[in-house]
Amino acid sequence: KIYYDQDADLTVLDGKTIVFLGFGNQGAAQAQNLRDTGIPNDNIIIANREDSYAEDAKLKGFNVQHDFSKAAQVADVVFLLIPDQVQPRIFNEIFAPKLKDNVAICVASGYNVFFKLLKFKRSQDVVMVAPRMIGSSVRSLYQKGKGFPCFVSAEQDGTGNALKIALALSRGIGATKLGAISSSVYEETAMDLMAEQALWPNIIMLFREGFNVLKEAGCSDEALCYEMWMSKEPAEIFEAAADEGFVTQLKHHSTVSQYGQLSGALKLDGIAAREHFKNILYNQILNGKFTKEFSQIEADLEKDGLDNPVNQLYAKAEEMELAQAEARVRSRLADMLKQ
Ligand code: NDP
Repeated sequence: KIYYDQDADLTVLDGKTIVFLGFGNQGAAQAQNLRDTGIPNDNIIIANREDSYAEDAKLKGFNVQHDFSKAAQVADVVFLLIPDQVQPRIFNEIFAPKLKDNVAICVASGYNVFFKLLKFKRSQDVVMVAPRMIGSSVRSLYQKGKGFPCFVSAEQDGTGNALKIALALSRGIGATKLGAISSSVYEETAMDLMAEQALWPNIIMLFREGFNVLKEAGCSDEALCYEMWMSKEPAEIFEAAADEGFVTQLKHHSTVSQYGQLSGALKLDGIAAREHFKNILYNQILNGKFTKEFSQIEADLEKDGLDNPVNQLYAKAEEMELAQAEARVRSRLADMLKQ
């Protein structure tokens, strides 16, 4: 089901105090959109530590509360928009104990709700309004009067009004203009983590191996980098796929290319890939294995340098021949790339 503006009643938010926990990518965009839709500024509070994000919120005219407990006490609706890995600690320990019994909590990602990492009371509403866009696009598309793709769901209906609130919040941030797609934290988490842990790792691996084989066959670094991604051809292909169709966009390519791509793809049975994807979905994602592993490194994610596990992975990735070659190309062509 797809929900449009006319399905959402903004009056369910009348008189409610709406607290944004976090004023980063999504928080800054969604709070400004909500205010521009007509939610009074006096009814919006930005809860943020005293730093540059808080300063930005103040500059944009918002009421900022540095004391999270005080913000929690007055909230009727909470947009939980701090990074996923810190939500359980901050929400469960500081925010949740002070929240009203009938508060509505809105997440922008299904992860922590699906894996039951957040503590809610049965009487509270838990909804998801998850834009499929980075925050700057959520804001710029709203300003252009356009919508953006978004998933919406009511996960826990403590008050009997959860779906109405989810739809009003979706409309408030501008998501029902294009149509907010009915979804669930299960669906959002499964798709998001599958893309991150199966689809894109395979695409990175295919580029890495394709690069290695063509390099061994005598192709130059410059030619390979431009052929494979620096020309932006892959970006254009994906844009055409979104605009015209995943298969239909092939018609823009030469006949040699169309024949090669289609006959090649149809020859690959995909059985090994399907088994690999199923293994990742069931034995790494849905069974909570990845979540357990990720929770164990959470404290290290704020460390600098190689003490941070993500930086360790970046260091390893930089060792790939593809990355080394690209660094050489970018340094040799620095002047040209500046233009
Ligand atoms: P950001 O990384 O932009 O969040 C930054 C905000 O979180 C700032 O207000 C920051 O304030 C606060 N914050 C960070 N660490 C802490 C901490 N330890 N304690 C308290 N506050 C903290 O987050 P995003 O906007 O990227 O993500 C928010 C949610 O939106 C997530 O659930 C994410 O999955 C979802 N989402 C994100 C998308 C994206 O494009 N980024 C797209 C769709 C959904 P300060 O550091 O000052 O405390």
